[in-house]
Amino acid sequence: MEVVSGMQNEKVALFIIFGGSGDLARRKLYPSLFRLYQKGYLSRHFAVIGTARRPWENDYYRQIVVDSLNDIQATDEQIAEFAGHFYYQSHDVTNAAHYTVLKKLADTLDQKYQLQHNRIYYLAMSPNFFGTIAKHLKSEQILTTAGFNRLIIEKPFGHDYESAAELNQQIRASFEEDQIYRIDHYLGKEMVQNIAAIRFGNNIIESLWNNRYIDNIQITLSEALGVEERAGYYESAGAMRDMVQNHISQIATLLAMEPPVSFSARDIRHEKIKVLRSLHIDTPEEAQHNFVRGQYGPAVIDGQRLEGYREANNVASDSKTETYVAGKMEFENYRWAGVPFYVRTGKRLAKKETRVDIVYKQLPTNIFKAAQDDNKLGHNILTIFIEPTEGFSLRVNAKRLGQGFATRPVDLNFRHSAAATGNSPEAYERLLLDAMNGDSTNFTHWDELSQTWKFADVVEKVWSENTPTDFPNYASGSMGPKAADELLARDGRHWIFSAQPK
Ligand code: NAD
Repeated sequence: MEVVSGMQNEKVALFIIFGGSGDLARRKLYPSLFRLYQKGYLSRHFAVIGTARRPWENDYYRQIVVDSLNDIQATDEQIAEFAGHFYYQSHDVTNAAHYTVLKKLADTLDQKYQLQHNRIYYLAMSPNFFGTIAKHLKSEQILTTAGFNRLIIEKPFGHDYESAAELNQQIRASFEEDQIYRIDHYLGKEMVQNIAAIRFGNNIIESLWNNRYIDNIQITLSEALGVEERAGYYESAGAMRDMVQNHISQIATLLAMEPPVSFSARDIRHEKIKVLRSLHIDTPEEAQHNFVRGQYGPAVIDGQRLEGYREANNVASDSKTETYVAGKMEFENYRWAGVPFYVRTGKRLAKKETRVDIVYKQLPTNIFKAAQDDNKLGHNILTIFIEPTEGFSLRVNAKRLGQGFATRPVDLNFRHSAAATGNSPEAYERLLLDAMNGDSTNFTHWDELSQTWKFADVVEKVWSENTPTDFPNYASGSMGPKAADELLARDGRHWIFSAQPK
C-alpha cells in the first residue's frame, strides 16, 4: 500500500456530509475517506460532520462508520482514531434554524482540528434538496470567507435540460462554477482515466485516432443485475437518463476530444466542452431511427426464476421505462465526421462488462485472398476493458501456423494483475482526493451537462410520444433486444462484444 509520509500531502478540511445515514455514505464515502486516512492524506487536520434527520448520538454514528469499514484491513486503534473525527448532527435540510446549529458545530470543529476554514459539502441525498441546501449554506453563513468552500453533488443532475438548468441556477446562486464538483463516478475509474494515457502517450495510437483509420467506436456498459432496490428512482429515470446522458456521454467525450494543451483541469475541460459542441443533436426523425430501447422480461436461469422489470417493487405493471438503450452518437468535426459511436447499456444482460471497442477500417485490399479462398482479414480492434477487469487488447492479423498462407486474428492482451487492481484506488477515493486538491478534471462542468441533456432530451421526447408496444422485449440474461443488432446491421456492422445468453 502506498503510504504518504510527511505533512505536505496531508489535506486539511471539514467535510459536511448531508445524508450521513444513507447508503452512499456507508458503502462508498466512509470507506473511501478511511483509505485516504490510511494513506496519510487525512491525518490530524480533518473532521467529518454527518447529518441526517434521525436523532443520533456521536457514539452511535461512529459505530455506523466503523461498521462500514468491515471489508478493510486495519487495526482497531487505527479505526477508532479515524472514527473519532466523526460528529453527528441531526438536521432537517429544509429547516433554516437547523443550519445555525450546524454552523456552531462546524466552527467548533474548525478550531479544534485547525481546519483553516476549508469546507467540503457532500450532498449524498435526494437531488430535490440540492437547491435548498446550497441556498441555506450561504444564507446561514456556513460558507467561510477565509478557506475554500467546495460542493460535491451526486447524480442525477436534473431530469432533462430544463430541470438541470434550473437546478444549476439554484446552486450557482451560492457557489461559483469552479467550487462545484459534479460527480460522475465513471470518471474516477482507473481505466477511464487511462484512456488519456493510451491516447496521448502513444504515437502509434494517437496518429491513427481519426476518421481516416477508424471505422466505428463501440461503448458498452452491460450490467448483469436488474434494478434491485433502485426501482423507485429508476422507474422515473430509465437507462437513457441513468447511464447514457452522463457516464456513456462522458466516456465518448474522452474518446473524441482533441489532445489538450496540457493535462490540467482547465485545458482538458476546454477540449471536452469543445468536442461536445460538435455532438450532433438528432432531429426527432433521426432519434427514432438512431435509438433502440428495451425492457427486460422474466427468465428461468439454472432453474431459478428471475422476475421481469414490471414485476419489481415500485414498478408499474405496464411500465414504459426502458432498462436498455442502444444508439448512435456522431461528432461533426474534422476528426470524426463519418465515424459512428455506437453506445449501449442495459440491465439483466448476459454478462457484466464495461468496455470500449475501437474498430479500425479494413485494408484497401486483401492480398492473401488468393492463398486460400475463405481467408478473411478481420478488422484491427483496440479494446479498452473498464470493468470488471481492467486493461486493453489489440487484435491484429497474423499468419496461421503451417503450410499455405492463411491468416488468423491474434489478441495482444494487457490486463492488470489482480494485485495491481487491488491497489488501484476506488473511484470515490480518487474523486474525494481530487476535490480536496481542488482538481476538477474528473468532474463534469455545466457546459458539458447542458449539451448532453439537449442530446438526450430529443430521444426522450420521441419516446414519450410513442408508446413502446413490444415491452418487455428482451429476456433476462440475453444480450438485449434484437433491434439493437439490427441498428448496426443496417450500417453493415455488428457489435464486437457479445456474451452467450445465460
Ligand atoms: P439514501 O436514501 O440511502 O440516503 C438519503 C439520506 O438523506 C439519508 O441519510 C436520509 O436520512 C437523508 N435525508 C432524507 N431527507 C432528509 C431531510 N429532509 N433532511 C435531512 N436529511 C434527509 O440515498 P443514497 O442511496 O445514499 O443516495 C444519495 C444520493 O446519491 C442520491 O442523489 C443518489 O441518486 C446518489 N447516488 C447514490 C448511489 C448509491 O450507490 N447509493 C450511487 C450513485 C448516486
